[in-house]
Amino acid sequence: MNGKKVFIIVFIISITGLLVVQYQYLLIGLNLAKVQFNQKIGLTVYDLKRGLETQNELTFLIGSAITKDHSYFALDLDSVKGASSYFLNDFISDKLLQHGIKTDFSYSLYARDSTNYLNSTQSYLGEETLLKYPIILEGYLPQLLNKNLILELQFKNLNKYFLFKLNGVTIPSLIFLIAIVFVIIWVLKSFYGQKRFITITNDFINNLTHELKTPVFSIGIASKILQEKTKEENKELVRLIRTQVDRLKNQIEKVLELASLEGKKGFLKKKVLDFKPTILNLVNDFEQLSKIEKIHFSSDVRGDHFTLNCDAYLLESAINSLLENAKKYTKENVEIKFLAYIEHNKLMIVVKDNGIGISEKYQKKIFEKYYRVSNGDLHDVKGYGLGLNYVQRIVNLHKGKIIVKSTLGKGADFIISLPLAI
Ligand code: ADP
Repeated sequence: MNGKKVFIIVFIISITGLLVVQYQYLLIGLNLAKVQFNQKIGLTVYDLKRGLETQNELTFLIGSAITKDHSYFALDLDSVKGASSYFLNDFISDKLLQHGIKTDFSYSLYARDSTNYLNSTQSYLGEETLLKYPIILEGYLPQLLNKNLILELQFKNLNKYFLFKLNGVTIPSLIFLIAIVFVIIWVLKSFYGQKRFITITNDFINNLTHELKTPVFSIGIASKILQEKTKEENKELVRLIRTQVDRLKNQIEKVLELASLEGKKGFLKKKVLDFKPTILNLVNDFEQLSKIEKIHFSSDVRGDHFTLNCDAYLLESAINSLLENAKKYTKENVEIKFLAYIEHNKLMIVVKDNGIGISEKYQKKIFEKYYRVSNGDLHDVKGYGLGLNYVQRIVNLHKGKIIVKSTLGKGADFIISLPLAI
């Protein structure tokens, strides 16, 4: 499974997990709201019981309606019933509001023997999810009828009411969750967009470099032939062409090798061998070159054998890159030191110079591909920012480490450590 799929799966699992947790919180919230509602209803029931216990204007009106005795009022029985139903509704609604319950309700007033005496104008009876709270009345009204009287409060669809109460919590958390999803999708999209762009750019550079290889090779051969045949006065010109072609060839090789290091796994040809002879050769070559270029070069190679499991060609070319850099980034009186020794079962390779140095803030960045320190006049030196990235990749492929120690203006020490094979 590739990284992208893992990311997407982790993302989907996390979001689903968050939704489930939110849902659980919602259920807990709903239950708490129900408990709270029941407490409030308990208080309301107590008040209603007390309010309907004694003879007062309301109970007298209700009593007249349920005993069908409308002689006290100059109204017919239906009007008395209608008025009682209306005022009882008002009374209940008022008590509910006093205890913080503001939701639709209906009621019925009936006796134990199922005789129905009074109903609210709208009735929720017969509805699903109906919640009933029967209140056994005491005092004046049951005594009037000489029967047990029950006032039943009915509420429908309370979940909607509870959800509305919890909206202050659920809606913001849903909005935040949606915002998180959007931001993550956006980040993932731009991340993979950029990754695709980098792959395309790398492919383009690699293809272009491949295409350049053949003409550069042909120019190299042609200039070699020309060097032999040309007149003495043109020889310097041809030599210049040859040096530049060699430089170009080196850069092309580096780009292609880097591409191979990034891509194919089987590119590395590791073998257990003594790396000391390769180091001595390399030091010897650089010494010769230093004499010609008037560079002070000294080396100290200590230890009998440097047994490594390595691709000697790649390691050699990595060390060469460090020596080249030491030369490139030192302006005058170039002094380069090369050290190789064994420490804690590791081969340590140190390249020291007395050059321009690297300020601390750039010391990590210089190992990034295409990165070049770009302050002041440092870059009269040509380069593509590939060398150190190339060195680091090779060292990493050998399970080693590379670090730089430097103070700006006071030279730089590049230190490679490689695990020994024995
Ligand atoms: P390039 O030399 O092509 O620019 P590198 O990857 O080799 O690419 O180096 C990256 C940057 O690190 C260089 O641009 C330079 O600023 C800095 N650098 C590398 N080696 C040294 C050194 N020995 N002394 C000072 N700066 C260095």
